[in-house]
Formats: sequence, C-alpha cells, structure tokens
Amino acid sequence: MNDPIITGTQIAYYTICHRKLWLFSKNISMEHSSELVEIGKIIHENSYTRKRKEINLEGIKIDLLEAKRGIIHEVKKSKSLEEAHLRQLQYYIYYFHQLGINIEGIIDYPKLKKRERVILNGDDISKIESTILNIKEIIGKEKIPDAINKPYCKKCSYYEFCYC
Ligand code: SF4
Repeated sequence: MNDPIITGTQIAYYTICHRKLWLFSKNISMEHSSELVEIGKIIHENSYTRKRKEINLEGIKIDLLEAKRGIIHEVKKSKSLEEAHLRQLQYYIYYFHQLGINIEGIIDYPKLKKRERVILNGDDISKIESTILNIKEIIGKEKIPDAINKPYCKKCSYYEFCYC
C-alpha cells in the first residue's frame, strides 16, 4: 500500500497539537461545531473574490496562485497560530519544489490588513522532511496523544472532546 499523502492541514496540526493531528487523521471531525471555524470560512470565502484561483491538488489546497509571479497565497484569520500557518505554507512551497517548480509564498491576513512573505531555505527543508516522518509515526499509533492544555485549546473544535 502507498504511503498516504501528508496534507497541509496535517502539517499545521502537527505544529499546533499532536492530539489534534491524530484525531483529524483518524477522520474524527468536530469542525462543524466551532463558531470560530465558521468565522474563518466566511473571511476565507470573501477574500480576493475577484482574483481568486483556488488550487486543489492531492493533499494540497492553495487559496490563490499568482502563476505569473510564482507566488502562492494562504488566507488566514489571525496571527494567533502564526507558526502553524508558516509551516503549512512552507510545506506547499516544498511540495512544488519537489515537482521542480520554484515558488514563493505569502500569508494574507485580510482582517489585519497584513501579509507575510514566506520562502524556504535548507534548514526549512530538513525540518519539513523530519516533520513528515514524525507525522507518519504519530498517526500510525493506536494510542491517542495526550491533551496539551494550552490557552488556545478553548478555541479548538476538539475542546469538548478533550476536556468535557
Ligand atoms: S483541545 Fe487542545 S489538546 Fe485537544 S485537540 Fe485541541 S489543541 Fe489538542
């Protein structure tokens, strides 16, 4: 059996919480119950409507591709999970590099009227490759990772599952 494709969401969840990664990877979803997820979707759907070109590849869902400039965009609601946003976009850039396509990234925060440029260096590539191995190890385990009890747990769609 072929290895499952690691998705950008899994890369982000690995950065946020291994338990969240494990639950999501087992198709245990509670996203519909989170009001914050709904707000995020509304911002996402109303951003860049005129030049919107969403790309959907296997495991890779890119909000906008500016093909002429070689830039991919990710649209995010806030900077509270900035590290996860960065790793997710770096993974997409890495994915394109593997296909021989050189590309850069921008994280757009329309609500904050801010954007961050994202590139990939050698250290980032090593980190992504070890992250992919770690993700495969975590999601291959029978036992669910422990809850992490971080302040952002309260905003997580699995909060009730983990703490109630
Ligand atoms: S509520 Fe916290 S511990 Fe549970 S999955 Fe979400 S981030 Fe992880």
